[in-house]
Amino acid sequence: MEDRMTPSEYATWTERRKLGRWRYIIRHWLLTKGALLGVFAFVTKWAGLFRKGSNAWQDWALDSILVALIFGTIMGWIEWSSAEGRYAEGAESDEAEPEVDCLKCGATIPAGETRCPACGWTFEETNTPT
Ligand SMILES: [Zn+2]
Repeated sequence: MEDRMTPSEYATWTERRKLGRWRYIIRHWLLTKGALLGVFAFVTKWAGLFRKGSNAWQDWALDSILVALIFGTIMGWIEWSSAEGRYAEGAESDEAEPEVDCLKCGATIPAGETRCPACGWTFEETNTPT
């Protein structure tokens, strides 16, 4: 199982998923990380690295755009699917009980427990003073 989204991730994705899969992929992958990768690919060819075949810059540009499109689409698709899967699980609970110290002996009482593991003191007792 993947970790649940934190409440802030959940809120972010609630907004982002309104775009729909393809607009999400275009906006958050093709125009950003994909474009960066395309520029990077173009520059490496211009610098003479990984250049095979053609020496025409138009060909490098076409190659770079293809790399950007393929990378952006695949990564965006995977990210969308993964985020939607986690979104369906819901956000992790905000209301997790914090760890507390036992009021009697000072030992740590684990989150969710009401009884001290060291001395057996419990929150449940209602000692009404008289
Ligand atoms: Zn205790």
